[in-house]
Amino acid sequence: MFIELTDHLRCPVEHDEAFLVLLPDLVDGRSVKTGTLACPVCDRRFRLRDGVFDTGDAPPAPPGATRLVPDALAPLAGLNGPGGYLVLVGAPAAGWRELAELMPGVGLVAVNPPESVVDEPGVSVLRSSRLPIKTHSMRGVVLGPPYGGGPAWVREAARVLLPGLRMVGEGGDPPEDAVDLMASADGVWVGSPRR
Ligand SMILES: [Zn+2]
Repeated sequence: MFIELTDHLRCPVEHDEAFLVLLPDLVDGRSVKTGTLACPVCDRRFRLRDGVFDTGDAPPAPPGATRLVPDALAPLAGLNGPGGYLVLVGAPAAGWRELAELMPGVGLVAVNPPESVVDEPGVSVLRSSRLPIKTHSMRGVVLGPPYGGGPAWVREAARVLLPGLRMVGEGGDPPEDAVDLMASADGVWVGSPRR
């Protein structure tokens, strides 16, 4: 877990959005390896193990196939220049190394990635039934299949995006009331949150 990402995490419990307080046990450079994330509102504590923030309720891993491979994904995400974070939900996270080369200086956050993706410098791993990330804090969100067709996940993606930025999805059409579609082809869509 990239230590600066912890500023953008939120408690996953359904109460008014609350930040999480990091109580680190082991930090290596700018990575937190073990520690506790504590919510000041509901008092829940989440252990950070092997650098992974796991809220304990992540859905089972979907099949690994995705059209959202790095070369296809980078232009769709439309991030110009370094800084901030790109969230990769599901199978697209497997391409994080190539994406890091295509988008230097953009922090990568893998949510429910394939088992092959482990927390290390360059990628932070979260496992959860939602995006435990603060509202309006991310530069882009990519939803692999089936997340791209899941209304709850699309709404979560819209919530965490900074205003005016894009999400990319695969796995079905997004709900019309949540997304202004910019393009859709071959099961992949690009859009921005409908405000
Ligand atoms: Zn809480």
